[in-house]
Amino acid sequence: MVEITCRTCGTLFKGRPNRRYCSSLCRRAAEREVKGDREVERFSEFLNSLPPAQKAFFDNLPVVDFNDCLTPEQRENLKKSGWI
Ligand SMILES: [Zn+2]
Repeated sequence: MVEITCRTCGTLFKGRPNRRYCSSLCRRAAEREVKGDREVERFSEFLNSLPPAQKAFFDNLPVVDFNDCLTPEQRENLKKSGWI
């Protein structure tokens, strides 16, 4: 048993040297993050593979903040259920 700092939440815990996360929750959170990064990467690869005219179409799309599309009540509900 050694002392390990959880890579997701920073909690110090004791465990086998090969453990990286304090709980399965933190491990899953880390996996989700990696998956999200890959999706962003795949999308930018897709963008870069497009002919210039099509790429310009995506470049000119307005950037919409998801939060701006919600009513204050919807935002509260999503926060309560942990989505945002
Ligand atoms: Zn943790």
